[in-house]
Amino acid sequence: MNCLWCKKPQKEVIQLRTLLTFTKIEPTVRCDSCSAKLVSLQICPVCLGCSRYWSEDGLCPDCQKWKADYPNYPFKHTALYQYNDFIKEWIEAYKYAGDYRLGELYKKEIQTFFL
Ligand SMILES: [Zn+2]
Ligand SMILES: [Zn+2]
Repeated sequence: MNCLWCKKPQKEVIQLRTLLTFTKIEPTVRCDSCSAKLVSLQICPVCLGCSRYWSEDGLCPDCQKWKADYPNYPFKHTALYQYNDFIKEWIEAYKYAGDYRLGELYKKEIQTFFL
């Protein structure tokens, strides 16, 4: 199985526990170096509106502008990761190239997050 993003071949590590308990083996969809590019938002300050990295309190300039233009729009986006170049590329590929398989990259995190 290759990393869905950079296509680097992945080594599957099957743990003994997995074999003994007959759990379904989840294929590795993302390699370590791609995982390392994800900055968890749990550890860094973000804008309350768009969840982009924002080191001050409240909203980033973009969101402040939006809020001024659309005061009644309840914008509260939740992001799992810091919005960086890596995420941007991924979103572009996902949205515009229609590569739905890329959604698999984050499926587990998204499911965990919303459960
Ligand atoms: Zn990768
Ligand atoms: Zn913002």
